[in-house]
Amino acid sequence: MANEIEHVHCLIIGSGPAGYTAAIYAARANMKPVLYEGMQPGGQLTTTNEVENFPGYPDGVTGPEMMMQLKAQAERFETEVRSGWITKVDFTNGGKHKVWVDNEKEIHADTVIISTGASAKYLGLPSEQKYLEMGGGVSACAVCDGFFYKGQETVIVGAGDSACEEAHYLSKICTKVTMLVRRDVFRASKIMAERVKKTPNIEILFNTETEEVLGNDMGVTGARVKNNKTGETKDIPCTGFFVAIGHKPNTDIFKGQINLDETGYIKYEEPGTSKTNIPGVFVSGDAADKNYRQAITAAGTGCMAALDAERYLASIED
Ligand code: NDP
Repeated sequence: MANEIEHVHCLIIGSGPAGYTAAIYAARANMKPVLYEGMQPGGQLTTTNEVENFPGYPDGVTGPEMMMQLKAQAERFETEVRSGWITKVDFTNGGKHKVWVDNEKEIHADTVIISTGASAKYLGLPSEQKYLEMGGGVSACAVCDGFFYKGQETVIVGAGDSACEEAHYLSKICTKVTMLVRRDVFRASKIMAERVKKTPNIEILFNTETEEVLGNDMGVTGARVKNNKTGETKDIPCTGFFVAIGHKPNTDIFKGQINLDETGYIKYEEPGTSKTNIPGVFVSGDAADKNYRQAITAAGTGCMAALDAERYLASIED
């Protein structure tokens, strides 16, 4: 019965390290969590290559492998992991938190843990969007798509740690990588920037912005770029155009329902907890974190959210 309302004690939205860690803790506390995976099961880590900084993996682990292990661990304690996209929420009914899945199924949850993460940003140029939609050479994930440009030339936009990491990754696959940095400095940490500067087949163009992604019916053939100091424009040949300019929190469905900051990140009601301004609704991971954005911090806040949810459930059952 598609329209039957389901009641759950603990609903977890999102399947990155935050969501699965919340699930492991909630399941072991017998809260019978139901976790919806969302559009990108496993979250952003599934688009990462080697994770070398998660404690407990002395030899590193790939992002997808780590997410499979986290999922298996959550399921071992009987978390119900479901495919589905949360399309609407209504948190205006006191303790009954209403959530709709795929615009259809309605769930009433005693507690909700939001672990919806963040998504890659794009430049917003019509030509970029055209080739992105066509699947013809624009990507925000070098680790996912770099392989398709093996032995070819690529361009990457951005100057943060992500851009440096991805440029370095591409440099091992591609003959040449041109990095477009809009200012005259990197935002990335010194060590990451230095690694890029030392890589012979990475060319860095400072003060350079993209005017247009060039291409034909087959896909991308180049990028028209402009030096914002001299005004000079030139075309750089490439078959892959990568964008690594940051992320946007996946919180649109919560607008008007819970407190967000000016950039859309969910605000913690009480520092040092996972509480939002709605009792019974908790947040973990990148949906509320614009500073750290690490798998380990996401996992840590997932744990906090499950513990806070457990305490909340105990308080309403008293
Ligand atoms: P950041 O926000 O740190 O950097 C975004 C970069 O994109 C900036 O250099 C910015 O330029 C540039 N940019 C933004 N918009 C545009 C635009 N329209 N055109 C051209 N360039 C643009 O995002 P990251 O994803 O790199 O990193 C996010 C966080 O994750 C950081 O805290 C980072 O340290 C961390 N991280 C850590 C890693 C690690 O330790 N292994 C790996 C990856 C990320 P400008 O500098 O001019 O603003």
